[in-house]
Amino acid sequence: MSAFHYEKDQDGIVTVTMDMSGPVNAMNDEYHRLMGETLAKLEAESDLTGVVIASAKKVFFAGGDLTMLVQADAENVDTFRENTENMKAGLRTLETMQVPVVAAINGAALGGGYELCLVCNHRVAFNLKSVQIGLPECGLGLFPGGGGVVRLTKKIGVEKALPLILEGKRLTPAKALAAGLIEQTVDSLDELLPAAKAWILENKDNEDAVVQPWDKKGFKIPGGPINSPRNAQLAAMAPTMLNQKTRGLMPHMTAAMDVAFQSSMLDLETALRIEGREFARVATNPVAKNMINAFFFQLNKVNGGASRPQEVEKQLTKKVGILGAGMMGQGIAYVSAMAGIEVVLKDISLEAAEKGKAYSEALLQKRIKRGQMDEDKAAAVLGLIKATAENDDLAGCDLIIEAVFENIGLKHEITKELEGYLTADGVWGSNTSTLPITQLAEAAAKPENFIGVHFFSPVDKMPLVEIICGEKTSDMALAKAFDYAQQIRKTPIVVNDSLGFFTSRTFGTYLDEAANLLVEGVHPIKIDNLGKAIGMPVGPLQIQDETSLELSRKAQETWKEMGVLDKWGDGTVIRRVIKDLVEDNGRGGRHHGGGYYEYHDDGTKSIWPGLLDLYYDESVQVSDEDIKDRLMFRQVIEALKCLESGVLRTVADGNIGSIFGIGAPAHTGGFIQYVNTYGLDNFIQRCDELSEKYGDRFVCPDIVKQRAASGELFA
Ligand code: NAD
Repeated sequence: MSAFHYEKDQDGIVTVTMDMSGPVNAMNDEYHRLMGETLAKLEAESDLTGVVIASAKKVFFAGGDLTMLVQADAENVDTFRENTENMKAGLRTLETMQVPVVAAINGAALGGGYELCLVCNHRVAFNLKSVQIGLPECGLGLFPGGGGVVRLTKKIGVEKALPLILEGKRLTPAKALAAGLIEQTVDSLDELLPAAKAWILENKDNEDAVVQPWDKKGFKIPGGPINSPRNAQLAAMAPTMLNQKTRGLMPHMTAAMDVAFQSSMLDLETALRIEGREFARVATNPVAKNMINAFFFQLNKVNGGASRPQEVEKQLTKKVGILGAGMMGQGIAYVSAMAGIEVVLKDISLEAAEKGKAYSEALLQKRIKRGQMDEDKAAAVLGLIKATAENDDLAGCDLIIEAVFENIGLKHEITKELEGYLTADGVWGSNTSTLPITQLAEAAAKPENFIGVHFFSPVDKMPLVEIICGEKTSDMALAKAFDYAQQIRKTPIVVNDSLGFFTSRTFGTYLDEAANLLVEGVHPIKIDNLGKAIGMPVGPLQIQDETSLELSRKAQETWKEMGVLDKWGDGTVIRRVIKDLVEDNGRGGRHHGGGYYEYHDDGTKSIWPGLLDLYYDESVQVSDEDIKDRLMFRQVIEALKCLESGVLRTVADGNIGSIFGIGAPAHTGGFIQYVNTYGLDNFIQRCDELSEKYGDRFVCPDIVKQRAASGELFA
């Protein structure tokens, strides 16, 4: 039997129910064959009243086959374009049938799934939050090239379509209805097919309903074409704003905007051809490969538990103790309670703990205001958090996460004092951002149950948790931390112990290289601007102001006490900068009254003039290319060293961790993938140039040379 079930009822309505052989319906070879057969059958019908496109899967239709898409490259671009054209021709045949065609959307219709819906005359969806509708391709380095950009632009107008396409928004049926993406919703699954059929019967003799708006004579696009006077501002501003946001590093978004603009002015067939040509160009660009690999394959691998010990059964956390209700502890309390976990939030005084709990209350109030949560649910979440200063309240915790000051003496002390409150095989997690877990675990009676659970600030927004295994950490403790991270809906990467683990250590090189440039005499504004130009979210000096120079000073002090200082220790450039700024001039960072920058009452900022006096040298000439590569290569080299030394256990953890934890530019696919795209030999050569000019910190790690020799990429 075909995987596109074909059933005609007594009213002459054919329901095509897609049930492809894979876990989801997707646009692959099987789809092309099935759709071809179905269209032939429909065209041969003599008394057809209408067609309903439905799905037997949980997801209506999943879209393009990414395994196929990721293989498209410049060499097979013509074949790729041809296949896309064939797929689009099939959709066009469905679109131009002489009977009403209705999409009965029972589950998510994203990307190619929604493009299929777009060729129908009417779209009715089951009104359930998880039934997401939209065109998310831009998040994967692509754009909706199966007619999505052209038809959505013609359907709702360029101004409304652009943000949906560029931001890859996924809408609930209610929002999709309001935005004009669909025309009808039903409140139960049972009503879906009857509603679709009822629409067909109502409209079977209505010629207007059978022809797509853009195929009608005199069609006028909502809001007018982009070259009309009313769109003059949009035409001028949108490209500038996009370029500002993407810094010109996202070619697929620029192409999507261009196709949308052209679609607003051209007839459908011409616009579809332009879309196809641009799509082939974009899909064969390395950015698409990098983003598909990172945001689909590697993210799925990481979230699928590739780094979790498989033999340990699921370890659910029921009661978590959080020590320290400061910036991090209060955020950890919030995300834990939101996941339904009982929380004991402990600080040195009840007042401090209550202050930490108030943070959750404020976030919950915001949710209520935005209509994301009702009062009862918010009260229930808040009710899960017990603010306290009493040790005894920790009794029965199966997980304790310590988030007190970054001080090894203090961390040792509270481990000794409070570890006993854990259940028999309870796990102790430290949220330290840099201190080696093995050394922290020396204070524990059960070092096998001790693990690093490193969150990022702000905890409620940042999607990553870096889990660090010390020398004695057991598989059970790792499974517990991993499962807890997933319970609170974070992506967990797993790394081995080292000073600064993977993320802090790699991120530190970005700041360190900025300090080198500064001391050489490069203008600070130039350093920050070029940091952003490579795609980092914030310039290195500005980000160090935000995370606080004072914190860096404290960290240096702690490492010195621990005897673990290396490249950030005495005699180093970063040590000199911290001393000059924090110790000699009291410039601890933004929250300490200013750092590299001065922060003014009107919200603006400017470089602290003393910084120019200290370092700036007008006569120094370092090319923009070198500055950009220095800021990027330092981080990439450090990530490679982490892989080489086993701190990183997998390439996927390195790429996902660098994007979600450090802000590695998304178009690179992460710091390890960067080397693949740059070309291993090219990378080695550029490292040689940089190390000769600027020092040993740019020496290429051996692992790259080994891979280059064996012809193997980092995959
Ligand atoms: P913070 O100064 O905001 O909060 C620390 C809290 O710990 C304070 O409320 C303090 O009263 C409390 N505290 C101190 N001693 C205590 C004790 N004996 N018992 C209970 N509470 C005690 O610090 P923070 O920024 O939240 O950082 C906490 C930890 O998280 C540090 O190890 C830090 O390195 C790490 N971290 C920080 C960030 C960040 O961006 N701030 C990111 C990741 C990890």
